Amino acid sequence: MDVLLVEDEPLLADQVQRAFSRAGHELRVARDGPSAWSLLKAGRFDLVLLDVNLPGMDGFELLSKIRDAGMPVRVMMLTARSEVGDRVAGLKGGADDYLTKPFAMEELLARVEVLGRRNVAPENQVVYKVGDLSMDVGKRKVHRGDRRIELSPREFEVLEVFMREPGRTFSRDEICERIWEREHEYDTRTVEIFIMRLRRKLDRTGEESLIRTVRSVGYVMKASS
Ligand code: CA
Repeated sequence: MDVLLVEDEPLLADQVQRAFSRAGHELRVARDGPSAWSLLKAGRFDLVLLDVNLPGMDGFELLSKIRDAGMPVRVMMLTARSEVGDRVAGLKGGADDYLTKPFAMEELLARVEVLGRRNVAPENQVVYKVGDLSMDVGKRKVHRGDRRIELSPREFEVLEVFMREPGRTFSRDEICERIWEREHEYDTRTVEIFIMRLRRKLDRTGEESLIRTVRSVGYVMKASS
């Protein structure tokens, strides 16, 4: 797994770098937003660990550049425990995950290992279809009609839950368990933000949303009839 750490605090950056090299992962470190952006444009990374407060360009600004450019990289925001607003802002801005500071190195590594396993494309080339929405799991591509829809890795996983079983209603808790497994501190608010992000990308104006809300139960995907 090729990982980019964007962190301006030297002590923390060194700790993470040592832990990653012991675990056999490639890790590059950028100390500010602009140099992180140069590295991202030049190389291919699987995961960005992104601090919020950075010199030059803050974490949210860098996140929006990454998503605007359609880079298929996972982004895990490193947010302060006290700053709940940062976590929500990061998720709304296109982050796939978050980890609150201070964190234990074992926990960071465990989460990175889980993400690494998910990055391996399945051998069978499954294509799911719901109405005019299609998802090619092997190629990691989603189309609505002829329109290609760019999804972040985690948006793709959330959509896949619905595409595998169209017509089935999923509760927020169920979606949490499927996507975040035993990862810590996920909550149903996170699910709501991902549904909002998917709707913004998938839906056409004036039509009913593909992912419908089932009041006080959860969500269901249905093609409009
Ligand atoms: Ca910082």
